Amino acid sequence: MEARRKNNQQALDALQQDITSNNVAESLAKEATQLVFGAGNPDADIVFIGEAPGKQEDAQGLPFFGAAGKLLDELLASVSLRRDDVYITNIVKYRPPNNRDPLPEEKKVFLPYLHKQLQIIRPSLVVTLGRHSMESFLPNQRISQIHGQPKRIKVSVSAEEKTIQLVILPLYHPAAALYNGGLRKTLLEDFSRVPEILTKIHTT
Ligand code: URA
Repeated sequence: MEARRKNNQQALDALQQDITSNNVAESLAKEATQLVFGAGNPDADIVFIGEAPGKQEDAQGLPFFGAAGKLLDELLASVSLRRDDVYITNIVKYRPPNNRDPLPEEKKVFLPYLHKQLQIIRPSLVVTLGRHSMESFLPNQRISQIHGQPKRIKVSVSAEEKTIQLVILPLYHPAAALYNGGLRKTLLEDFSRVPEILTKIHTT
């Protein structure tokens, strides 16, 4: 277990290095303070994927460091999980200027790196946070209709022509739930099902 954790961390470090040496999303990189690659357990059973770093994340170099991150911590605690138990990353790994929505092209250039991140970690469950993250795995869907429902998909890891199987659980974004009591309740309810969804994945 320890050896796998170490190997995964080394592979993730190398992948992080590739993003900078390949000059991925150069114009975003120029305006950002730093790359926000991801953080947490490199051998996690659950990976959370947000949209893109905001101001605080850009300053710290860590995902979900601001107000939305605080809510994410509360949600994790509600199912007895801590940040160190899971892995957290974003679709787009540099802060878009003025926190604008990531552009389709920006999401596209980071996708192969995100797939590779998932191939290294091999989580049982991938939780997408918000519409942008959901759309990268489950296109042409409405989050209002499919939130909280796990879906099994296959994605190809480019360059290697390999496919990996993933279970995606689309959830609302914690930032959207910060000032909306109804969404917060829905998010908490969806989150409360994470342990039973994991058990089902492990036993099927
Ligand atoms: N929102 C996101 O989607 N990701 C972060 O890292 C922070 C806020």
